[in-house]
Amino acid sequence: MAKEESRTSKTEVRATQGPMSSLLIKGGHVISPEDHLDGEFDLSVEDGVIRQVAPQISVAADEVLEATGKVVSPGFVDLHVHLREPGGEVSETLETGLGAAVAGGFTAVCPMPNTKPVIDRPELVQAMMEKSQRIGLARVLPIAAVSMGSQGESLTDLPALVAAGAVAFSDDGRPVKTAGLLKRALEVARELNVPLMDHCEDPSLSSAGVINEGEVSRQLGVRGIPSTSEDVCVARDLIVDEAVGAHLHVCHVSTTRSVELVRLAKRRGVRVTCEATPHHFTLTDQAVLEHGADAKVNPPLRSAQDVEAVVAGLQDGTVDAIASDHAPHAPELKSKPLGSGSPFGLIGLETALGLALTRLVHTGKISLWHLVSLMSTNPARIVNQPYGRLKVGAAADVTIFDPHLEWTYRTATGRSKSRNSPFDGWRLKGAVISTIVGGRVVYRL
Ligand SMILES: [Zn+2]
Repeated sequence: MAKEESRTSKTEVRATQGPMSSLLIKGGHVISPEDHLDGEFDLSVEDGVIRQVAPQISVAADEVLEATGKVVSPGFVDLHVHLREPGGEVSETLETGLGAAVAGGFTAVCPMPNTKPVIDRPELVQAMMEKSQRIGLARVLPIAAVSMGSQGESLTDLPALVAAGAVAFSDDGRPVKTAGLLKRALEVARELNVPLMDHCEDPSLSSAGVINEGEVSRQLGVRGIPSTSEDVCVARDLIVDEAVGAHLHVCHVSTTRSVELVRLAKRRGVRVTCEATPHHFTLTDQAVLEHGADAKVNPPLRSAQDVEAVVAGLQDGTVDAIASDHAPHAPELKSKPLGSGSPFGLIGLETALGLALTRLVHTGKISLWHLVSLMSTNPARIVNQPYGRLKVGAAADVTIFDPHLEWTYRTATGRSKSRNSPFDGWRLKGAVISTIVGGRVVYRL
């Protein structure tokens, strides 16, 4: 109980402005798959850069972080978040969203472009990057739209968007509308060497669906979204991508079949990666009975068999990354009825690590090493960014977490501006202790 109180009362989110200071992280279990590090090391940071990783470093530092019993990981990278700014500030702002990110251990996040307006022009990418740099919490790696307004008609100026700082393309919230548009976008993305991230859904199959099509949708008398809606689109994308040879990234896989399709495609040598969300590896559509609209997401929470398939995909490397799909919605929006008007999405930045540790690591399904790959190394590689490692000379983006600290998640004390989470009140084992971005401690428990 004391630990819980300290989490809610003393936690601190600090902006990164201010003078650089040197930092020494002592005695932690350093895990960095990219650097083949797995053991007890000290880590020193100066001028925002990692200076030394070695047993027993004794240099003077402005601040010493005692990390005995904790894991020292390269900073987590979230490939899929919605920060709602511009246009959706009633639900989240860059500042509150990035506060939630660092509280969740994320040192970099990739916001999806489905804001108002849609991020489909270079000026919008630049504005978002400039504003997030002023805020100075987690880094923002923007994802730009594939098509103007994400309407699926005309391609955006992909080279100009990359020149402005976009790290990937997506029409998330919806799929790239047609196979023809997808092919053209993939051809340009291949030349630019950036991934195209698709939200795989066939709207003609899911149309007015609200939750997973199954026992629960029948019981509640609401329209269901069948698994086939996702599967058909994943198959389309993989076939088109196999012909083009670009880097396709499948967002939030949620069905048995789509995990199988990605696994098969990887065996065939298709250049594909994919992500899974904590809610899809944790909850089934039964959660809708208890949580109503707070468990309404797209893709929907599926069956127990699908959850098992997603977990198996995480275990065998078919799934490359854990992404939160953090999707805040203000209470006045989410309180609308499940079947009519409540938007899809749940907040996930602050529970991602706790759920991954509780559901995957402490159950023996994956190792801590694999968890760090899924939350840091692999997502950084997917967007071709020099993060996700603890190499001398690299930017000092570091997440320190205690894999054994138990705490209770309360949306009321969360950093997000919104409260829409089915995990409110959940007891989780594993918590972020400190988040360091560019050598500055931006979050501490
Ligand atoms: Zn999506």
